[in-house]
Amino acid sequence: MTDTAFKPRVFSGIQPSGDLHLGNYLGALKRFADAQNQGIQSIYCMVDLHAITVWQDPEALRHSTRELCAGFIASGIDPEKSILINQSQVPEHAQLAWIFNCVARIGWMNRMTQFKDKAGKNAEKASLGLYAYPSLMAADILVYHATHVPVGEDQKQHLELTRDIATKFNHDYGVDFFPITEPVIEGTATRVMSLRDGSKKMSKSDPSDMSRIALTDDADTIAKKIRKAKTDPEPLPDSVEGLADRPEARNLVNIYAALADMTAEQVVADYAGKQFGQFKPALADLAVARMSPITTEMARLMADPAEIDRILTRGATRAREITAPILRKTYDIVGMVGPAA
Ligand code: ATP
Ligand code: MG
Repeated sequence: MTDTAFKPRVFSGIQPSGDLHLGNYLGALKRFADAQNQGIQSIYCMVDLHAITVWQDPEALRHSTRELCAGFIASGIDPEKSILINQSQVPEHAQLAWIFNCVARIGWMNRMTQFKDKAGKNAEKASLGLYAYPSLMAADILVYHATHVPVGEDQKQHLELTRDIATKFNHDYGVDFFPITEPVIEGTATRVMSLRDGSKKMSKSDPSDMSRIALTDDADTIAKKIRKAKTDPEPLPDSVEGLADRPEARNLVNIYAALADMTAEQVVADYAGKQFGQFKPALADLAVARMSPITTEMARLMADPAEIDRILTRGATRAREITAPILRKTYDIVGMVGPAA
């Protein structure tokens, strides 16, 4: 991690927009858990305000928010060591986002590829919230003065925008108030691809359930999805260079490497010349072995929703000890009175 003048602090969020999947686990959750013991204060967030930028059924949203909290804990995030929160329970996120809407430029927003992907052909019908999403994301991060944000590859552009907002705010008001946050995009699974299409990332919002392995899938379902994953007829090559033009094969090798804590080179060395008929069952066994303890623990936690709600209420109280003074100071810098202390 790079040094900045600000106290190191980690922030990252996941949307309660559907079933957590292997991409979320390898690109985000597993890495959060691995980083937890580095002694850096970390805030992990269920970003429900982001989820509603596209339609969410209210009951499903309530369920997904709790299930996501269970997913964080089951993946190894300790709600005492880290701060675990639900975004809408910490109002300073949305309050700072408004100020950032007035800092960010429309031209910057027009370049955001996630908006283009999610709005699709009919961008006129997309919500204003989906368009402003990256400004709220900047607020999520900067309302904690977070210095480091572990995310998947797909969020790189939003992190750059967060840096642009911080830089412009600091410049416009002549302060050095917001840190220039570093994205942390590391490991072999920063972009896990759809099992049906090697050119698309695995996503909660993909309409095809076969495109992703969910953290709630049982062993048979995981094995079936891997068996049916798109591949090509060639055997595995003897070097990673041999995967360059084979996106589906590369994806399965990267998933194996990330699950086994190996490099892609080591995986290829072990399976060089083998057919997918041999590789896929090995990958399925590995995925089941790694994921089923998480699935079981999530189910156990979900049996006591009141306890999950208590954890989130406590997380919000702890979070606001950080966010309230930062927002107050922001209002001050901008010249606004803001709410009473
Ligand atoms: P949605 O389709 O609703 O946007 P999502 O699957 O993209 O859902 P998010 O909640 O948007 O998930 O992202 C949560 C975290 O997981 C982010 O850090 C993001 O970069 C990471 N992530 C999402 N998809 C992948 C993926 N396929 N590979 C690696 N990391 C991913
Ligand atoms: Mg996403």
